[in-house]
Amino acid sequence: MHTFFSSSKSGEYFYITQDELKHLRVRRVSIGEVIGLIWEGKLYKAELVKLEPKRAVCKILEILEVEPPPLKVTLYQCITQDIKTMDTIIYKATELGASRVVPVISERSFRNVSAITKRKERWEKIIREAMKQSGRPFPMEVKPPIKLESLQPAEDVNILMDNFYDGKDISELNFKEVESVSIVVGPEGGFSQKEGETLRSRGFVSVKLKPFTMRSETAVVVSLGIVMNLAGS
Ligand code: SAM
Repeated sequence: MHTFFSSSKSGEYFYITQDELKHLRVRRVSIGEVIGLIWEGKLYKAELVKLEPKRAVCKILEILEVEPPPLKVTLYQCITQDIKTMDTIIYKATELGASRVVPVISERSFRNVSAITKRKERWEKIIREAMKQSGRPFPMEVKPPIKLESLQPAEDVNILMDNFYDGKDISELNFKEVESVSIVVGPEGGFSQKEGETLRSRGFVSVKLKPFTMRSETAVVVSLGIVMNLAGS
């Protein structure tokens, strides 16, 4: 089922316009076809009933109950040197239910703050695409970039993903009785020893995943996927 963002609603009808209308036409959605619609943080099933030059008219069939993620997860992602990798990370983190992503400037990360800030709009577009594809009706938040030195373990469980350190096995951590988790993932060059020590001394739990070293984007997917699925409902 293709999913689109509705731009307005009146009674039992939704309206799709502008870019979303273009997407609908590209997908060759036909009259009578059932589609998904995201509107004000909710996901609906609707039928395309009319296609006008400037809008598509859809009739609501039902509201789809979307379970919110079991945990509020903040991803602290050290900005990768290959900035396109961040696009992949933003997409995957949205699909996997992260509540927000905070770009982090670390010793070995991409460090151009203004370039990162300029990327926000692009990332918000990527988040919208990921929302449609994954049927997630509410967006992941992109926070302003921060320096690694300012990171504090502010959630119920705070994980430092560090392949350079023999930390805990992720299965030793309890995600069942907690409401919020933070996950810190390094850039391509990983964390410096000093960075790892600083974050561990503040209370971040170092986790080393088996069996090998992953790319940042892989570590994001694996850690978010495990945490979300080890959490209680
Ligand atoms: N340059 C590093 C090296 O030579 O080993 C690899 C860094 S890795 C590409 C990027 C980030 O992914 C790491 O900083 C860490 O946050 C995460 N990561 C990769 N493999 C991991 C693992 N096995 N366990 C925990 N975190 C991992």
